[in-house]
Amino acid sequence: MRIPVRDDLRALEGYHSPQVSVSVRLNTNESPTAPPAAWRDAFAAELSRLEWNRYPDRAAVALRGAIAALHGLDPAQVFVANGSNEVLQTLVLTFAGPGRTVATFEPTYQMHAQIARVTGARVVEGERRADFTLDLDEVRRICADEAPVITFLCSPNNPTGLVEPAANVHAVMAVAPGLVVVDEAYGQFADWSAISLIDEETPLVVTRTFSKTWSMAGARLGYLLGPSWLVAELDKVTLPYHLDASKQIAGRLALQYVDDMEARVAHIVAQRERIQAAFAAMPVDFWPSGANFVLFRPQHLPGKDVWQGLLDRDVLVRDCSGWPRLGDCLRVTVGTSEENDVFLKALGEVLA
Ligand SMILES: *Cc1c(COP(=O)(O)O)cnc(C)c1O
Repeated sequence: MRIPVRDDLRALEGYHSPQVSVSVRLNTNESPTAPPAAWRDAFAAELSRLEWNRYPDRAAVALRGAIAALHGLDPAQVFVANGSNEVLQTLVLTFAGPGRTVATFEPTYQMHAQIARVTGARVVEGERRADFTLDLDEVRRICADEAPVITFLCSPNNPTGLVEPAANVHAVMAVAPGLVVVDEAYGQFADWSAISLIDEETPLVVTRTFSKTWSMAGARLGYLLGPSWLVAELDKVTLPYHLDASKQIAGRLALQYVDDMEARVAHIVAQRERIQAAFAAMPVDFWPSGANFVLFRPQHLPGKDVWQGLLDRDVLVRDCSGWPRLGDCLRVTVGTSEENDVFLKALGEVLA
């Protein structure tokens, strides 16, 4: 006997990102390189001394303190969870849920709407302009007509790569009737951050992750920066001891290697510019990216065929061609320079 799921979940589809075994994997926006060996050794040393019979520090004091110091904020303004997706889920559980509305501006990160729907919240999807930039008239209309308790932005936006200009974030804050969330999973790749706008009086939060710039997707660690009253509410909703002891150590130690992280980011940014320069000389349209991936659309071939052609050459990119508003689009994660060589050569062959 199968028990029926909640009525409102029946139409829901899970998160899909096909994992095919290939030699060049450029589909999930991970870092192509590992964290520093010194981090791995320090982590192993601390793990060997861990008191496994004890619950972890429930407030993750050391980790929060290190994150707060990195951003020049107070530890009470930092919330930490198992990946920024769990941060977003806790946020929506706390402020949205049944009877409340969440706004997104599409195309954007699919999990914003997905997580909100799972909590029972109503999701209103506003439209971006044809070039995927934010349409402030649409933002005003949605905020006035739908009164969202949470308005999501994503900068740089996934999957378009576009950075949300500061003026847009200010404009959204001016009209949003509730909380504004800026998802900065790729924040370090961009030239500005909304973290500078955080203060105790403003209903604005910024979320970040260790999964991309910190080369730690395997650790599942993310955080939120925002007013301390809001962080205190999130702390009530999250499960006790949700952040295990080893993860708290992993994150705290990672923050001792900021220079390594920044060097990796600089390398990826240079490679991203190289890929975009190559695209400019190919029959593809692409969107200027501020992240570690580039969205592109072949001009003369169906996106699906190009995706398959790349796969036949052992290169996996993200197939966005079937996603709403993204007909024929593909998204490539910036890899190592060798991986990008293979990708660009394969793309040139497929398009020829
Ligand atoms: C990758 C990604 C995340 C996910 O982060 P985790 O910390 O791995 O859960 C969040 N937001 C966006 C926009 C992303 O692309």
